[in-house]
Amino acid sequence: MTANRTLTETELVAARALLDDIRARIDAAAGEDDGLRFALNRKVYKELTYDERGRPNARQSLKARMVKAQNGLCVQCAKPLPDSDTVLDRLAADAGYVAGNVRVLCRPCDLAIQRGRGLA
Ligand SMILES: [Zn+2]
Repeated sequence: MTANRTLTETELVAARALLDDIRARIDAAAGEDDGLRFALNRKVYKELTYDERGRPNARQSLKARMVKAQNGLCVQCAKPLPDSDTVLDRLAADAGYVAGNVRVLCRPCDLAIQRGRGLA
C-alpha cells in the first residue's frame, strides 16, 4: 500500500478554483431549472468518478478474473470468498483498477485494512 498523493496548499487552492468554476458553469447552464442542475451535477460527478475508478463493468470483470487467480480465496485471511460482498482493493489508489495493482478481499478483512489506513 502506497500512501495516496495529496495536494499541497497551492494545489488545494487550484482545486477549489476548479470546483468553483465547474459549479459556476453548471449554474449558468441550469439557470432556474433545478432539475437540470441536479442532472448536470449527477452527470459530472459520475464521469469524474469513472475517471478515478474506471467504469463499473471493467471493475466487475477485473474482480472476477482476480477471484479466479486467487483460487476463490481472500488474499488476507485465506478463507473462501463469498459470492457477493467482496472488495476489489487497490494497492496504490492512483495506479487504478488494473491487474497487478488490485486484490480481492472479504469484507471483514477490507474493513480491518481500511481502519488500519485510517479510512474507516
Ligand atoms: Zn479475508
